[in-house]
Amino acid sequence: MNVAVRTAPTAQQGSEHFDVLIVGAGISGIGSAYHLTTQLPGTSFVILETQESFGGTWLTHRYPGIRSDSDLYTFGYRFKPWVGPPIATAEEILSYMKEVIDENDIEEHIRYRHKISSASWSSETNLWTVEAVRTDTGEKKTFTANFLWMCQGYYRHSEGYMPEWKNMDKFKGRIVHPQTWPDDLDLTNKKVIVIGSGATAATLIPAIAGECARVTMVQRSPTYFRLGRNAIDIADTLRQLQVNEEWIHEIVRRKILFEQDAFTKRCIAEPEKVKKELISQITAVVGPDYDVATHFTPKYRPWRQRIAFVPDADLFEGVKSGKATVVTDEIECFTEKGLQLKSGKTLEADVIVTATGFNLCALGDIGFVIDGKPLDFADTVTYRGMMFTGIPNMVWVFGYFRASWTLRVDLVGDFVCRLLAHMKEKGARRVEVKLRPEDHNMPLLPWLDPENFNPGYMMRSQHMWPRRGNKPEWQHSQDYWAEKDEIPAINIDDAAFVYR
Ligand SMILES: Cc1cc2nc3c(=O)[nH]c(=O)nc-3n(C[C@H](O)[C@H](O)[C@H](O)COP(=O)(O)OP(=O)(O)OC[C@H]3O[C@@H](n4cnc5c(N)ncnc54)[C@H](O)[C@@H]3O)c2cc1C
Repeated sequence: MNVAVRTAPTAQQGSEHFDVLIVGAGISGIGSAYHLTTQLPGTSFVILETQESFGGTWLTHRYPGIRSDSDLYTFGYRFKPWVGPPIATAEEILSYMKEVIDENDIEEHIRYRHKISSASWSSETNLWTVEAVRTDTGEKKTFTANFLWMCQGYYRHSEGYMPEWKNMDKFKGRIVHPQTWPDDLDLTNKKVIVIGSGATAATLIPAIAGECARVTMVQRSPTYFRLGRNAIDIADTLRQLQVNEEWIHEIVRRKILFEQDAFTKRCIAEPEKVKKELISQITAVVGPDYDVATHFTPKYRPWRQRIAFVPDADLFEGVKSGKATVVTDEIECFTEKGLQLKSGKTLEADVIVTATGFNLCALGDIGFVIDGKPLDFADTVTYRGMMFTGIPNMVWVFGYFRASWTLRVDLVGDFVCRLLAHMKEKGARRVEVKLRPEDHNMPLLPWLDPENFNPGYMMRSQHMWPRRGNKPEWQHSQDYWAEKDEIPAINIDDAAFVYR
């Protein structure tokens, strides 16, 4: 593939052609565009984005208090220093992304309100044909591209996951999902129930506790949290010493990553000890008389599900002050006035917020077709969670759950640029991954190992995802500390890569 060519003679009439087509203008899409412009200048590319602006997750979620649950030194890109407090609001993340877009002239490459409906690969032309619909005019647009860089995230942005509870329609108040937070919702003096115990509930509750009459968190089972100041001492000290921000960014990233690695290893080596430490942080805030055993003691091993960071313990300060209440129980059904719980208890509410998570969606709800045959993504085997057998010229950025997602945006960015440069050098127009003869007897397993990481939203959709093998190169290990060395060292001339 000649990555500098702007028009392809084989592209369809009436379509626009690009060397690379990036799907999505979230933190992955913008980071990928940065790597492409800086590492392979002259490559023609377009970013297609359904929404009216960039940001992805940070644009979609507009509920009160929306903030990151991991630090921005590592959730930020490696190339753009983060200069604010480590836990950031959606607005702060969007301003950071805007600076990256402006500083690197990325805006001119983004087409907003373009929802991609299909992507078809032709082995005859070695091109992708991508169909998009303009969400404002309904106009259909066709693009062709040599390479697809999938940065569409992992969940459906248009609607959150809402379980079906009995009698939901009987409830006289309002039911709201945080992913589609209504602009007109006024919670002043309202009785609010928040269903869920994850990062969203933990963020939302302290943000609304001051204005509503009462907020109750209803959880089936507790979740782990880490508490701490929303500040990083070493960053503050280095700033006092007038060390430049590039250095501070790098030093703080290394410190955080080093500590996270140690923490992850401890969670596996001594889970009971870590569990006690995490819970005792909470007891120290809510006090010894609070029933921490029932409400804040999870049943699973730490790190089998994402652990949200709660800055300044705000959720637990709210519980201690009585502004927020926690109920650990199961929902029997909705009633006209609120909830009936399995224990027999009833709760009244004017508004019920279902902080129940996402609808996972593989490949952005795009219908993929390979040489005329619809693709079943679950039939493929993944190469390090980036490439997939049977899908040529395509890479997906699927980040980390245990470390910041964006760490992988940078690693995959380097990999894709290296791969594209290699194709140009070889004069290849097509690359795909293929199981080697020695891989043929390898067991093929579900995408995630539930022993390792098992949040409900991933478990309920495992059947939709590609399979993994039992060798490091045929799985997404979710291990940044191994991949930071392994991905740059991938031998792209290995027999697993087939070029034509
Ligand atoms: C509330 C919340 C808080 C989070 N906090 C953290 C955190 O602190 N740290 C962390 O590491 N992770 C966090 N995550 C996970 C988070 O989703 C990722 O870290 C990251 O933002 C994902 O970025 P992305 O660009 O890959 O995908 P997304 O942010 O999901 O963006 C994908 C973009 O692609 C677009 N798109 C999708 N399909 C199509 C299509 N068919 N056509 C055109 N465009 C399409 C979407 O509209 C969207 O703009 C959080 C998630 C949520 C929901």
